[in-house]
Amino acid sequence: MALKALDIYKLLPKKNCKECGDQTCLTFAMKLAQGKGEPDACPYLDDNAKAVLGASTRPPIQKITIGMGSRAFTVGEEFVFYRHEKTYYHQPGIVYLISDMDTEESIREVARQVRENCLTRIGIDLLLNGVAVRADSGSGEQFSRAVRIVSEGGDLPLVLIAPDPAVMEKALEICGNYAPVIGPVTPDNVTEFCEFARKYGVTLVLKGDDLPGLATLSEKCLSQKVQNLMLDLSGSSGRYVREATLTRQLALSREVTAFGYPVFMDASESGLSGVVTGIAKFASVIVTPPLQKPEMDAALVMRQNIYTDPQKPIQITPGLYRIGTPGKDDLVFLTVNFSLTYFTLQGYLEATRRSCWLLIVDTEGMSVLTAVAAGKLNEFVIKDAITLFKLADEVNHKTLIIPGYASPLSGRIEEVSGWNVIVGPRDAAEIASFIEEELKV
Ligand code: SF4
Repeated sequence: MALKALDIYKLLPKKNCKECGDQTCLTFAMKLAQGKGEPDACPYLDDNAKAVLGASTRPPIQKITIGMGSRAFTVGEEFVFYRHEKTYYHQPGIVYLISDMDTEESIREVARQVRENCLTRIGIDLLLNGVAVRADSGSGEQFSRAVRIVSEGGDLPLVLIAPDPAVMEKALEICGNYAPVIGPVTPDNVTEFCEFARKYGVTLVLKGDDLPGLATLSEKCLSQKVQNLMLDLSGSSGRYVREATLTRQLALSREVTAFGYPVFMDASESGLSGVVTGIAKFASVIVTPPLQKPEMDAALVMRQNIYTDPQKPIQITPGLYRIGTPGKDDLVFLTVNFSLTYFTLQGYLEATRRSCWLLIVDTEGMSVLTAVAAGKLNEFVIKDAITLFKLADEVNHKTLIIPGYASPLSGRIEEVSGWNVIVGPRDAAEIASFIEEELKV
């Protein structure tokens, strides 16, 4: 069970020496209880406190990295059931499935799609994650041929699906050292697959007939010193949701440590609906046949929305941005660094087909209205941004157009910065008519 702040406090030395970076032992205890600190930050913990706090603050769901290099991805290490309690840390990997019976051309095409498909949304590149190769042929040679074709690019994380250890071993000889995920591991092949895990350091996907069977398999792997495990909960949508919910609850409460592993979901039968269910309900690796572009985009967008920190607005880097190819006489618009604000305004400015400057100030990702109310957007922040981003070097006028919601600041901005202020519209959609009708330029 996760310890509460007062339980943690009882284990601390209570010196209030501040060496951990907190003012008191109690504030340090509260931080640990929220999963925001490391026990090691206190140098005075005795061995018992270290052991108890270490077990309590360790992620209840194992962290696992799949693949090597720039396309490797990490799953697990989650602490909460509901996203709004804190955040979900590691988004599920979406992995496209191929059969070892597919033609070479078709295998290459799927690998290319995974490698190259990208949706850029609010300034972030959303990517697919890997390729799953399934041994439908039952032949080690055929299976390793498909794995070799996918591996040629050398960068894509792999999921290898072959219950026969002899078939699996052929593929591991090719890619075993590149941290693939392999399975399904059942009571019939668990001994051989544990040997693979020890030899190659691969992650095993455990498949039980039911949850007690899955827990038994998990304990067996642990007894064989294999810790990188995933739980295969693939099944009908209803069954998946029930079991994924239950295992997550039991893992988070640390009541059943055998379920403290990321969830694997094979959506090869259900396609997009299975992918969506997996994203919404705790899957960490989702295997699907290649999706149509609109389906893929929908899945990537949904994943991005769920796996962003709800306490941290998505931000872009403050700076002076160009819309088109602005010159020294062009207009300068100002707004905040909340990504949605920036990209919305950018879109409307581009639609005017006029080049202009866009000065983005740091409001810690708050929207204009919130930033003004919270004092994060003020005359001093704006003056500093003008100086920091050398606005005066880029234009030969001193006029800023600020968002309509920032109108209460206009006088103070002029006073402090020495720049003239024009109050723009509240709604970015009105920017084109504002330029034509109000500015008449
Ligand atoms: S370093 Fe340890 S003893 Fe000192 S304030 Fe922090 S928790 Fe307390």
